[in-house]
Amino acid sequence: MSVLVVGSVALDDVEAPAGRVQGVLGGAACYFAVAARYFSPVRVVGVVGTDFPREHLEFLESRGIDLGGIVHAEGSTFRWGGRYLENLNERETLYTELGVFEGFRPELPRHFRDSVYVFLANIHPTLQRNVLQQAEAPVLTAMDTMNFWIESEASELELTLAAVDAIVINDEEAHQLTGIRNLVKAAEAIRERGPRIVIIKRGESGALLFDEEGIFSAPAFPLQQVQDPTGAGDSFAGGLIGALAREGSSGPEALRRAIIYGSVMASFGVERFSLDRFRDLTQDEVEQRFEEFRALTRF
Ligand code: AMP
Repeated sequence: MSVLVVGSVALDDVEAPAGRVQGVLGGAACYFAVAARYFSPVRVVGVVGTDFPREHLEFLESRGIDLGGIVHAEGSTFRWGGRYLENLNERETLYTELGVFEGFRPELPRHFRDSVYVFLANIHPTLQRNVLQQAEAPVLTAMDTMNFWIESEASELELTLAAVDAIVINDEEAHQLTGIRNLVKAAEAIRERGPRIVIIKRGESGALLFDEEGIFSAPAFPLQQVQDPTGAGDSFAGGLIGALAREGSSGPEALRRAIIYGSVMASFGVERFSLDRFRDLTQDEVEQRFEEFRALTRF
């Protein structure tokens, strides 16, 4: 079943203890799409400028990702720069240059409107809702957000929250959204505001799922080397939604398996800079790590 993602397509500059890269492929929609494509067909809605390298589009196309919703606009592609500290848990945003992303008004091509699984990556909450209105009959809708929107667009965010089935955010965002530090209570408070499924990512501490069945906890895969945590959350969401689409279900059992697939994709993504680990990652490796997760948590 088809997955639709709306979000940033970016050129990133990243500094980390393992090295430094400039003008590499990034953006929430790209991380999400590449990860989700291991499981199901994927459609992308986003915008790039005239400076966006052709080779990045060719890479996404070579994966069979449908780029029919990418607008080519006059101007510069969204650029983001970030620097990680030694422990890799802390990140400093060096700059965010919106470029053509500033005037982005997502429009679904006609053949995208029947998308069954819809992921609204981190964009203005009003635009997120606008996308929902264009999707004709989605079975599962999920959203991300960030501190900026929580602080500056609280009432719009509230309306979007009430309109989605699921939210995938990190622990700090859950706290900001609710004012509650305890994640169990915060998740409960968010569920009361709309989404029946709340997923809270906790970086190297894994992820927590809250739904009508209760709580499920997934660890992060213990890695020997992490080069670049950028996009981990989006790769996680891609693995999660892609796996649900492959199963054609978002019931409790499917959700729990999908959380593990999300963790699998995030763990691969951070092994190298940008989306580089996905360039040679095979389907077999994905399934093998899924089994390794099973061994890791069985007792
Ligand atoms: P994450 O590590 O999950 O925060 O995702 C990082 C990716 O999101 C990078 O590739 C950035 O290009 C992109 N990004 C950073 N800031 C924003 C923003 N304000 N809006 C949309 N995308 C962003």
